[in-house]
Amino acid sequence: MPHRPWLRAAVGLLACIIGLHLSAIGARAQSADTILVNGKIVSGDAAAPVRGAIAIADGKILALGDDAETRRFAGPRTQVVDLGGRTVIPGLIDSHIHGIRAALSFATEVSWIDAASLTEALERIRAAAKAAKPGAWLIVAGGWTEEQFAERRRPTQAELAAAAPDNPVYVQLYYRWAMLTPLALRALNIASDADLPSGAKLERDADGNPTGGITGGIREFGAIFAKLPAPSDADQVAGTRKFFREMNRLGVTGIVDAGGVGVTPESYQALFKVWRERELTLRVSYSLSAPAPGEDEMKTFQDLTRLVPAGFGDDMLRFAGIGEIVTWGLYNNDHPTEQQKQQFYEVARWAAGRGMQLRVHWPHDASVGQLLDIFERVDRDVKVALHWIVDHLDDASVASLARVKALGVGWAFQDAMYFAGDRYAKAAGLDAARRAPPLATGLHMGVIMGAGTDAHRVMSYNPFVALRWILDGKTVAGVPLRAAEETPTRLEALHLYTKAAPGSPRTKTVAALSSPANSPTSPFSIATTFRYPSRRSLACSRC
Ligand SMILES: [Zn+2]
Repeated sequence: MPHRPWLRAAVGLLACIIGLHLSAIGARAQSADTILVNGKIVSGDAAAPVRGAIAIADGKILALGDDAETRRFAGPRTQVVDLGGRTVIPGLIDSHIHGIRAALSFATEVSWIDAASLTEALERIRAAAKAAKPGAWLIVAGGWTEEQFAERRRPTQAELAAAAPDNPVYVQLYYRWAMLTPLALRALNIASDADLPSGAKLERDADGNPTGGITGGIREFGAIFAKLPAPSDADQVAGTRKFFREMNRLGVTGIVDAGGVGVTPESYQALFKVWRERELTLRVSYSLSAPAPGEDEMKTFQDLTRLVPAGFGDDMLRFAGIGEIVTWGLYNNDHPTEQQKQQFYEVARWAAGRGMQLRVHWPHDASVGQLLDIFERVDRDVKVALHWIVDHLDDASVASLARVKALGVGWAFQDAMYFAGDRYAKAAGLDAARRAPPLATGLHMGVIMGAGTDAHRVMSYNPFVALRWILDGKTVAGVPLRAAEETPTRLEALHLYTKAAPGSPRTKTVAALSSPANSPTSPFSIATTFRYPSRRSLACSRC
């Protein structure tokens, strides 16, 4: 992946400081475990955004400053590392990711993330088949697009079957298409459209013959995926550890998890087990999504949260609230009925009264006014600050962002256009694509914003893919789309990926983070103020 040089340099040292909590700035009569000197330490402090050195003790920052200021904290056991001019950045936070779900299958899935060609992707299937027992499922759950492949196309059934002749193979593309090998179709008893959830169809070629593919939408693929064999409990726990380590490797120290389709109370059990064993390496703020359509969302949320108040948890794991699916009536629905809007309002008012975070998946600006109407109604009726989040909204208008800002709620955007930009430009026009999403506009308006990936079904979880896209606006096919006037600076990009942007009380200076953790003051603050509890994070070979 062609990172910019500064990003490459940053990655090289990220592991040195990931997760350090900026909670103890200033002098203390304590000697440092580690002092990093002669570097570029991105402080997050607008007044002094880059410092030369940092002193660290017990997972906390003792001092930021120049070499002499930090060397004052050296003791007999202090390790002093000369950075040789390299950059150190704060631990990254993905403000919208389906990490809990991704983790469950991370030990057993085949990943096509970052595969440069279909040949390489098929090779990954072949290698997994060799390592798997005959009959074991090989599942690619998403995170890829044909535009990332040199061949610019999807796999055929014959290619997948040739790569894994003795294993059923299931390859999903976003929530719109999947290819299954004959063994997989047989195992799931799929022979005709009647065997699929309504709305899904067998894909057919020009002659009307089934290709092995299935087409459908998010609800249909949620149901189809649920039919695949789930990893064992042990594999789910192993996957959770492995996925969180993988995120650490990429410099991520915190995630704000968005729940999502197919996430049930059982989906949290592996996470809870790793937390109970005090082995979480990633701070997780989690929320509850509405269960399958047709169930009473209010009753479900009330039942599930009776003994779990918002904010309950510790530095590593914290319950935030509800979403990204709050009610199915307002999920991907640009034309909700009055009854659906009233039902959403009642759930939202209930959540507001309990101080819950509420986050809503909302793709289109043309219809988001209906959601913001409800937010404003709750804001009038329940006089508490709403630590809420509007998710996605790639085509956000200035008018909508102004309403978001006035409400004090956050906007979580992701790098969806990295995969989808070329298609979006064709459908909506180049002008629209050049401001999708309008990052600099949001920043300059002072909207509370957080960056993320929405991984891993629809996007890579790699934060440096997102950071690079924030800065160069290029799609996976290499087409630069974002207008210069919508391009944030590097420091702004890091702010969006660390402690959110201007507007949040916690995001103005490093010192602001020294206030006690865990009193949520912005939609993103819960994750941003978690501490890293162990020094296992100090894994850099140079440290
Ligand atoms: Zn999402």
